[in-house]
Amino acid sequence: MKAVRYQAPGDFAVTDVPMPPVGPLDVLIKVHQSGVCGTDVHLHHGTYIGVYPLTPGHETIGEIEEVGTEVTRFQPGQRVTVNPNIYCGHCEYCLAGQLVRCANTEGMGVHRPGFFAEYASADHRQVFSVDGLESDTAVFAEPTACAMHGLETLGQRPGGSALVIGAGPTGLLLAQLIGSGGATSVTVGDIVPFKLETAAGLGVDSTVSMTKDPAQNIDRLRAASPTGDGYDVVVEATGTTAVGNICVPLTRNGGTVLVYGVTRPDERLSISPFELFRREITIKGSYAEMTSFAAAISALRTGRARTDGIISHKFPLDDYGKALEALASDPTAHKVVIDLRS
Ligand SMILES: [Zn+2]
Ligand SMILES: [Zn+2]
Repeated sequence: MKAVRYQAPGDFAVTDVPMPPVGPLDVLIKVHQSGVCGTDVHLHHGTYIGVYPLTPGHETIGEIEEVGTEVTRFQPGQRVTVNPNIYCGHCEYCLAGQLVRCANTEGMGVHRPGFFAEYASADHRQVFSVDGLESDTAVFAEPTACAMHGLETLGQRPGGSALVIGAGPTGLLLAQLIGSGGATSVTVGDIVPFKLETAAGLGVDSTVSMTKDPAQNIDRLRAASPTGDGYDVVVEATGTTAVGNICVPLTRNGGTVLVYGVTRPDERLSISPFELFRREITIKGSYAEMTSFAAAISALRTGRARTDGIISHKFPLDDYGKALEALASDPTAHKVVIDLRS
């Protein structure tokens, strides 16, 4: 079968690889679509925790081709998605029920083979039915699960105002969930006008056009807040330190900053400890997810999380390089998807 195969960061080919083995508890999936994520760009550059040689891809939908001898939950032909995140089950965190904090967590498409491939094999316990969902919606199951975990981590107090900085696909999913999760207003800020139009179309309360000037961004975003003095919740969803550095100043007294974007591990923010102390600001991080797939699929089914208009580009598997390039540098790119049926 054909798959994207990295020998090392920066060094990949779309090439023939052996079919994945199907153990007694596994299902073999014929991949239909796999979303390209900012993490895949980090994996390309070697700035994320990947294990090479690697087939990346962690957001997928497809059809069950074959089931292992002990699998009774699924049958060939069913349309499914896969939770790519796997916990070890025996570390201190797992044994305490804190699965997302597992010390030995492994991700399909990061530590194990992923879904930029014609076929993938997964333990059936990682697999979820998406019957009845359009493919272009179902392919957002993984990013929606991450957003659902973000909402859970945030633990927001109902009735507050929220700002999501970064109108990328996961930022827009989280903005919607924060809105239905108890915030009375959700504002989205971004530099790119068409992403803000998409945000408005998805029902956020207001959008703010940002610039490259941090001081100007603070002024504009604060002025757009319902109370004029900032937001009870501020989400960093760009993965840039320029935005990370303006989150605390934009947070109201007693509010929470959620670090949701992925930066390089060596990057640092500049934060005033006095401000955290004096204004009782909480900073939280939200990492991927482990147990949020069922909730995410439900939210996609009911429209609590909508994806209309977010997919901007589709490429065949052979054009994985072009897909990465589009995501990294095409100003018209929003969600980029590898479509294996094209
Ligand atoms: Zn991702
Ligand atoms: Zn563990």
